[in-house]
Amino acid sequence: MIRKPIPYGHQYISDEDINEVVKTLKSDFITQGPKNLEFETNFAKYVGAKYAVAVCNATAGLHLAVNAMGVKKGTKVIVTPLTFVSSANCVRFCDGDVTFCDIDKDTYLLDINKVREKLESVPKGTYSGLIPVDFAGYPVNMEEYRKLADEYGLWIIEDACHAPGAWFTDSKGKKQKCGNNKYTDATVFSFHPVKHITCGEGGMVTTNDEKIYKSLCLFRTHGIVRDPDLLINKKEGLWYYEMQELGFNYKLTDFQAALGNSQLKRSDRNLEIRNNLVNRYNDAFSNIKGIKIPYQSNDVYHAYHLYTIQVEHRLELYNYMRKNEIHAQVLYYPLNLMPYYRQFGNKKGDLPVVEEYYKHCLSLPMFPTLREEEQNYIIEKVKTFVIGNV
Ligand SMILES: *Cc1c(COP(=O)(O)O)cnc(C)c1O
Repeated sequence: MIRKPIPYGHQYISDEDINEVVKTLKSDFITQGPKNLEFETNFAKYVGAKYAVAVCNATAGLHLAVNAMGVKKGTKVIVTPLTFVSSANCVRFCDGDVTFCDIDKDTYLLDINKVREKLESVPKGTYSGLIPVDFAGYPVNMEEYRKLADEYGLWIIEDACHAPGAWFTDSKGKKQKCGNNKYTDATVFSFHPVKHITCGEGGMVTTNDEKIYKSLCLFRTHGIVRDPDLLINKKEGLWYYEMQELGFNYKLTDFQAALGNSQLKRSDRNLEIRNNLVNRYNDAFSNIKGIKIPYQSNDVYHAYHLYTIQVEHRLELYNYMRKNEIHAQVLYYPLNLMPYYRQFGNKKGDLPVVEEYYKHCLSLPMFPTLREEEQNYIIEKVKTFVIGNV
């Protein structure tokens, strides 16, 4: 059976997931409680980080992370333009300035050479931080970025919303999992339904730095302190809590954490399924003139949040797919060209590689419950269109 329309991404909720949520709804804690702690502990272990902080969505997580880096009015941060809006907006939430650098034409990741050129073109100290994104699930080589960041005194926040479970190989041949923060200061994950693990809405920030961890926790809950040792005013009773900073309410509910925690158990299996789907797409398309398949490398384990091809007549192919009830997606419109970011002087022609990418990109359906006959149907439609239009 072929479902119609076929979406580009879809959640995968098992009966066990549902049982876990129901159990939590019947428990004493439905907002932040023991399930949050369990999810945080398991997630930290999964990615190999010391600390994990669960939040209500990745946008909130990015905001907390940027806030923990001390971004304020005028702080300059370099961000990739090929991403969802939150990767840059988090800097603006703290009144910082966003500079976009172009992407690499093969991996579609923030181009480290362009970043270096940008840093070299201004006095040291001009920029404070970097936010690279593991676009589509392709892990950024953070060892290389760390070297560059150290030269210029920068912090790094990794937006790994596309890449839980992915890893790159470092110069010593060791696997470095996204979010282990060996080379980064903090990493942010999303649990939106199209992502690998879902809580409906949710996110996680990982770090190995205790100071960052404490800042994330403090600002997640209104800047309120309850620990008696940390109170400034020690004269009140046990009811007393103290607001020491202007924080937010970015907590995750415990029933959402129960869902995420249950989903996490299937994460590695789902990555295998995604990689199998990729192999089938690649086998079907690699010999077809007019389709560029995603860049392959043996040095990384790709999480394949997206399977993105490049084609000549993208709009026509998109419409043809749509007519056949296949909802492929175009991700992303270059962030530097969004009306909001144009007001800062960004304009067409600034970043030619991402503009060229955008003209030709199409993300085909990619999710663990995509059936073989559905994938065959998608492949057949893409081939029919492309072969008929070269
Ligand atoms: C989904 C996504 C976000 C935002 O995640 P939310 O949980 O929806 O806030 C941020 N960055 C990237 C790269 C994403 O894909």
